[in-house]
Amino acid sequence: MAYFPDDMPGVEPNMDDAGFWDNCRRRELRFQACDACGMLRHPPSPICPHCHGTGVKWVQAPDEAEVYTYTVVHHASHPAVQSRLPYVVAVLEFPGLPGVRLVTNVTDIPPDRVQVGMQVGLWWDELKEGPPIPRFRPKESAAS
Ligand code: ZN
Repeated sequence: MAYFPDDMPGVEPNMDDAGFWDNCRRRELRFQACDACGMLRHPPSPICPHCHGTGVKWVQAPDEAEVYTYTVVHHASHPAVQSRLPYVVAVLEFPGLPGVRLVTNVTDIPPDRVQVGMQVGLWWDELKEGPPIPRFRPKESAAS
């Protein structure tokens, strides 16, 4: 079941992040890396900020991450999220992937129990439209 209600708008990939979302359609969380110098970056962009290379490769992310920081949302920025309040928006870091952080939701936990440094596991949220969204939940419940 989708984390947000069915009237939640789906993602509309753009020229820069289409590759990221193509991988999500295959339920693969991959981050963009420069094909020349190897530096990871996210969100995807057409040019490496380090060496200005334009070639890219997509590096598989592990299915676990760590909460770098987070906030608890109490006010609906869109009518579709009203019934979900309060919910957690977190910035996650991935072991072995320096330089990339993913903004997503940490689900399946009361917002007041989320902590910086918490280990979370990937799950794929199937929206009514658009590609699946990578969201995360505490590791102990990630398999359910
Ligand atoms: Zn580069």
